[in-house]
Amino acid sequence: MARKMKFKAELQQVMEIIVHSLYSHKEIFLRELISNASDAIDNLRYQSLTRPELAGKEETWEIRLIPDQKARTLTVRDNGIGMTREEIIENLGTLAKSGTREFIKQIQAADKKDFPELIGQFGVGFYSAFMVAENVTVISRAAGEESSAVRWSSSGQGEYTVEEADKKERGTEVILTLREEEKEFLDEWRIKEVVKKFSDFLEHPVILVTKDGEDEEKTKEETLNHRKAIWLRPQSEVSEQEYAEFYKHISRDIADPAKIIHFVAEGRLEFRAILFIPAKKPFDMLWHPVASGLQLYVRRVFITAEFEKLMPAYLRFVKGVVDSTDLPLNVSREMLQENELIEKIRKSLVNKVLNTLEQMKKEEPDKYLDFYREFGSILKEGVNTDWANREKLTELLLFQSTRTPAGKYTALEEYLKRMPEGQEEIYYLVGESRAELEGAPYLESLAARGREVLFFTDPLDEWLAGSLGQYKDKKFKPVDRGELAGESEDSEALKDKEKQFRDFLEFLNGKIEEVKQVRLSTRLKESAACLVAEEDAPSAHMERLMKRLGHEGDFPETGRILELNPEHPAVAALRELHAKNPADERIEKYGRLLYEQAVIAEGSKLKDAAGFTGRINELIRKNLVLGE
Ligand code: ADP
Repeated sequence: MARKMKFKAELQQVMEIIVHSLYSHKEIFLRELISNASDAIDNLRYQSLTRPELAGKEETWEIRLIPDQKARTLTVRDNGIGMTREEIIENLGTLAKSGTREFIKQIQAADKKDFPELIGQFGVGFYSAFMVAENVTVISRAAGEESSAVRWSSSGQGEYTVEEADKKERGTEVILTLREEEKEFLDEWRIKEVVKKFSDFLEHPVILVTKDGEDEEKTKEETLNHRKAIWLRPQSEVSEQEYAEFYKHISRDIADPAKIIHFVAEGRLEFRAILFIPAKKPFDMLWHPVASGLQLYVRRVFITAEFEKLMPAYLRFVKGVVDSTDLPLNVSREMLQENELIEKIRKSLVNKVLNTLEQMKKEEPDKYLDFYREFGSILKEGVNTDWANREKLTELLLFQSTRTPAGKYTALEEYLKRMPEGQEEIYYLVGESRAELEGAPYLESLAARGREVLFFTDPLDEWLAGSLGQYKDKKFKPVDRGELAGESEDSEALKDKEKQFRDFLEFLNGKIEEVKQVRLSTRLKESAACLVAEEDAPSAHMERLMKRLGHEGDFPETGRILELNPEHPAVAALRELHAKNPADERIEKYGRLLYEQAVIAEGSKLKDAAGFTGRINELIRKNLVLGE
């Protein structure tokens, strides 16, 4: 006898939302039903470990999808654990699910147009069938039940019926009578598409059963999913090629990955993960700068690929899958955001990745360098965002320097090892490229004293040094800013020179208005002059960058300091001329030329290019024609 029963109030609420408010993302119903079927199989498989009689002598575990165009039904059939009458009433008549209340609250508060989003992320389980079906019938026979099967049926309108049924095989069959406008889910291609999207790595085969020709009895079968949940297999049994194929499948990359990290977390936190570090920056990184590259599975069921909480943004280039045993399947995006399990998984993943990079840097430096060239600028973001791993990340940084051959890099640790005695700071110079920086006058005296200078050619480097401040007690010091500490004997000599040059400098200080100050330099060896900034000012490079970005107006002109090399013959000669005849007009002219060559050396533009050319031409003429 069929018995009419009412859904529990809360469930009725959910069903109304499902039936009346959803108009897209409907395909997720299939994901939900397949995942229930798969759970039912897993459940039986597990129980039959201790009670072999439950499963009988088979088993080939299977999930079958059977579309029937004529009847407009889609059937999802499994040979899993099945349900008794009591179980079906309990499971499909009430909402025991955790998070339902939360879900209802959210959906009630949400804008109608966000519903599909919400529901897509939440997964409403079995009841999502009512998004596409005008009637859902479930016929089930529990494992180990000799006698009766049970039929559950509902149109989702507040009531369902339960009655005895006839079913020979154990398991559950969910029969959806599709609404007229949802007929697409009977189409082979549509079914294939959805299975591929959501259940490709499901362990159990999802078999599509279709009619073969006109003969009603004849059917053909096709397994739709690849079933390659390779993260479930022991690492030793997965070949490099399989990893590579899997990587390419999830990343759409055509190249092999640079590194594969396959691991299983056991104990209080249970999950499996395969992470890949790509060899090349994917071009879509430009379009999706923050998207995560990880897919989250819960017990082999695909949950989401758009969940950035599993990996911090600075590791967004990492691709892979994470399969958690502990998370509930019906977890919503919002719940995930605050889930402390996720937090723990993330910590563990980050650790793995950073350790792998560390190891790579130590054992395969060339490979690490290749990686760093591709992703270094993204990784660097972590120094300022992941405080817990700041030290580790700092050790992963690489820079070119005056000591590395072009194209090779050094880590800070190595820099420190090479530091000569008496050096107290880590020197760096900011600029566009190594080629530009190599010729910079700021390096001259440092090079002569055997001091290494790091080339900061990545726009983030300068910001990084600023935020780090120091590395193992050694401060970062820009060599084109502030005072540069010389050797102690130098500073004695410099004091003498300063006396000698005082009047000359005073004269120039009054004449060259473009600079804040003219002073003697400890930086120079070959060059006559250079421009430096105040210690805390942004670098010339940064200033040019901001100007290029159109921030000229809101970027105050900081004013440079002109430094002269007292040892340089041109500077010395000019000083002598000033000592002899301070009124000689050439002093200002040539002094200006010193300033202008410093502007050029810095890589900045001359404001008065015509004036500069005039002065140079005059020099040539005087030298060649007049022989002065
Ligand atoms: P969830 O799967 O998230 O628990 P559902 O609403 O999808 O929620 O399903 C409710 C319950 O119904 C399941 O927990 C399970 O016990 C039972 N169930 C659903 N589908 C099947 C099935 N194919 N075989 C056996 N039991 C099922």
